[in-house]
Amino acid sequence: MNTDAPTSTASPKPVADQKRVGMVSLGCPKALVDSERILTRLRADGYAMSPDYAGADVVLVNTCGFLDSAKEESLAAIGEAISENGRVIVTGCMGEEADAIRAAHPQVLAVTGAHQYEQVVEAVHEHAPPSQGPFIDLIPQPSEHDIKLTPRHYSYLKISEGCNHSCSFCIIPDLRGKLASRRIDAVLREAEKLVAAGTNELLVISQDTSAYGVDTRHETRAWKGREPRAHMTDLARELGQLRTQSGHTPWVRLHYVYPYPHVDKVIPLMAEGLLTPYLDIPFQHASPSVLKRMKRPANEAKVLERLRGWRDICPDIAIRSSFVVGFPGETEDDFKYLIDWLEEAQLDRVGAFRFEPVEGAQANALPDPVPEAIKEERYARLMEVTERISAAKLAAKVGRALPVIIDEVGEPDEDGDIGASGRSQADAPEIDGQVHLRNVPADVAQGDIVTAVIEEADAHDLFGVIAQG
Ligand code: SF4
Repeated sequence: MNTDAPTSTASPKPVADQKRVGMVSLGCPKALVDSERILTRLRADGYAMSPDYAGADVVLVNTCGFLDSAKEESLAAIGEAISENGRVIVTGCMGEEADAIRAAHPQVLAVTGAHQYEQVVEAVHEHAPPSQGPFIDLIPQPSEHDIKLTPRHYSYLKISEGCNHSCSFCIIPDLRGKLASRRIDAVLREAEKLVAAGTNELLVISQDTSAYGVDTRHETRAWKGREPRAHMTDLARELGQLRTQSGHTPWVRLHYVYPYPHVDKVIPLMAEGLLTPYLDIPFQHASPSVLKRMKRPANEAKVLERLRGWRDICPDIAIRSSFVVGFPGETEDDFKYLIDWLEEAQLDRVGAFRFEPVEGAQANALPDPVPEAIKEERYARLMEVTERISAAKLAAKVGRALPVIIDEVGEPDEDGDIGASGRSQADAPEIDGQVHLRNVPADVAQGDIVTAVIEEADAHDLFGVIAQG
C-alpha cells in the first residue's frame, strides 16, 4: 500500500491565478499510473500541482477498494483531505462504491470510478475551472468559454515540462523552470495505456520536443526487451511499435519540434507509416535579424533546404508552423523576407499572431516597437499569402483517397443522410482543418479511421465521401 501526500511535482512557479491540484494516491502501481496520467492531463490543461493541502484549489484522492482494510484507509484519506482542504474529488477503485463514500463523507464534490480519466478531469474542470492564457494552456482551447476535453480517440502525451531556451518574447522558462524530461518508460507506458483504452491518435507535446532528454543526458530505460534513450528519435521509433485494438499503428503527431539536425532521423519513420507525416515547428519568423532578436533556438539558415530533403523522403509530410508579425524592430524588409520565405517553404498550415508584449518578457525592452496599424497590415498580408498556399495545397488533394479519423458523427437529416467531420493526417485537432464527409454509413463511429475520397477543397477544409469497398 502506498500513500502519497499531495503531489510534490509542483510546477516551479505557478502563474498568478493558475489553478492548483493536490493528489493523494493510494493503492497498487496501476492506480499510481492512473494518478500519473490524470496529473499529466491536468498539467497539459494548464493546472499546476500543489505539494500540500493548503495550496490546492481542489484535492484528488485516488482510492483503493481491493480489501476492506484498503477501503478503510481510503475513507480515512478522504476524511483527512476534507478536513485539511474541504474541496475533494474521489476517484479510483473505491469510486465504484460511491454510495458508501457519500454516506461517510457527504461533502465530496464528485466521485468517479477507476480508469474514468475523462470524468475525473471533467470534475476538476467543473470545480476548479482552469485559468487560460498562452502561457498556461499547452493544449489549444477552442474558445475562452468552451473548454473541450480530449475525447477518448485522441490524447495528448506530455513528455517534458519547462524549457532551456530564453526566447525574448517568452516567460515560460521563468514560470515553469528548466527542461525536466519524463522517463521514457513512463511516457511509453502511458502511451500504451492510452492506446489500450481506445486512443487512435497520440499528440506528443512539450515546450521543446526535439530537446527531450537533454536534461537527463538521454538516459536509457528498459522497455520490452530494448533500451530506448530519452530522445525524440527513440521515442518516435517506440511509439511507432504500438498497435491499436484493431491492430493498426496509431497516429502519432509530434508538436513543438525545433529543427535540430536529429529531426531528420524521424522523417524515414513517417515514410514507413510508423509516425504520422506531420511536424509542428514553431518557426515564428524567417528573417535572421528578427530571429536573432527573438533568441530562437535552432535558428539556422538551411531550413528551406532541409524541408526539401524531408519532402523528398516523405512527399506527404505536412508542416505546420506559427509566426509572429510586428516583433519590435521588424522592418518592411524583414517582413518581405518572411513572405518570400513562406512562398518558398510552402507550409501546409500556418497560424499567425500580431506581437503583443507579455509581462516580464525581455522583448518588452527592445527598441523600435511596430505601430499597431502596421502590425495589422502585415498580418493581413501574411494571411493572404498563407491562405493562397493552403488553398492550392488542399486543391491538389481533390480526387485522392486519404485516411481520415472521425471526430464527430452527426444525426441523420430529413433524407436520412448522415454527415461526419474528421481530420486527415495533415490536420491536428483544434488547430488545423477538417474533412467534412457526406452520406456516411450508419456504423461509422467517432475514432474510426476511414478512407475518404476527396471531392472538394477550400482554403482550410476538405470535403468528401467514404471510399466504397
Ligand atoms: S523555446 Fe522559446 S518560446 Fe518555446 S518555451 Fe522555450 S523560451 Fe518559450
